[in-house]
Amino acid sequence: MRKLCVIGDPVEHSLSPLIQNAMIEAAGLDFIYDARRVAGSDTAPWLAQAKNEGYAGFNATMPHKETLVRLMDELSADAAQFRSVNTVCIRNGRTYGYNTDGDGVLQALREADMDPEGRCVLVLGAGGAAKAVVTKLVEAGARNVAVANRTVERARQLCSQVDALRLTACDFSRETLCCYASKSQLVVNCTSLGMTGARGQFEDLSFLEELKSGAGVFDLIYSPARTRLLERAGELGHKTANGLGMLIWQAIFALEHFADTELDGVAMAAVARKALEERL
Ligand code: NAP
Repeated sequence: MRKLCVIGDPVEHSLSPLIQNAMIEAAGLDFIYDARRVAGSDTAPWLAQAKNEGYAGFNATMPHKETLVRLMDELSADAAQFRSVNTVCIRNGRTYGYNTDGDGVLQALREADMDPEGRCVLVLGAGGAAKAVVTKLVEAGARNVAVANRTVERARQLCSQVDALRLTACDFSRETLCCYASKSQLVVNCTSLGMTGARGQFEDLSFLEELKSGAGVFDLIYSPARTRLLERAGELGHKTANGLGMLIWQAIFALEHFADTELDGVAMAAVARKALEERL
């Protein structure tokens, strides 16, 4: 059996072993997947160890995703663009870094009937996840994307790195959110507001009242399953989806890289969802 794992610090909370082992079994693949706590200062020694111990690859979560970028022999286009690696394959001693978050969120949006093509989108947040989201929204043909962030400078930087022509950086005030919401058919929350264990909540959700009817509200957060943002959006009759789909699809794309083969994504997603339902 070939070894895979997720590294992080902390890593105990990670749902990756549960999802990956369920999919590995269902697909009849010859892998075993576990979780390994690796301190942020030990990314490079871990890479050497993973090669020595015969790992076929690993996923990475906080705090390794950025450090891995400069340690890879080769980087996928997304990993290079996001400056972040969440999937590493080790083939004949060489390391290949990928980032499956962007494809994962795009697939999850489509699955939730929120295809961004032709839509005006309001993105909340400008951190690491937002960069993958915004890049893929533009690639998928979103008409305009407004990136609202508490620290406006970070939103500006993100927009200038992706596609300044179709992106607008803005602040996070009620007035600004209302203004962009009134022009949007899709809102994607990439902030940590409302996440279990994180500090902060949306204090004012009135911008949701400005959204056009039939709009979608997608929250990257999956714990809790329904954040206050999604609760309010649902009350107002908007379409809603949480981040579970993104978590699942980024895992499916990672497993395809490890196995170097295309999998039946829909079947794999069903397997992962069932495993998660039993746990969550
Ligand atoms: P990050 O880089 O730390 O970014 C956090 C973002 O939240 C920043 O835009 C930050 O604004 C904003 N923020 C934090 N506290 C705030 C507050 N009190 N008021 C307004 N804005 C605030 O984190 P990340 O890696 O991008 O992750 C963001 C979220 O996405 C997390 O909840 C994470 O769990 C989720 N996520 C989910 C998946 C999935 O598979 N579903 C994958 C990746 C991430 P500033 O720039 O002003 O600090």
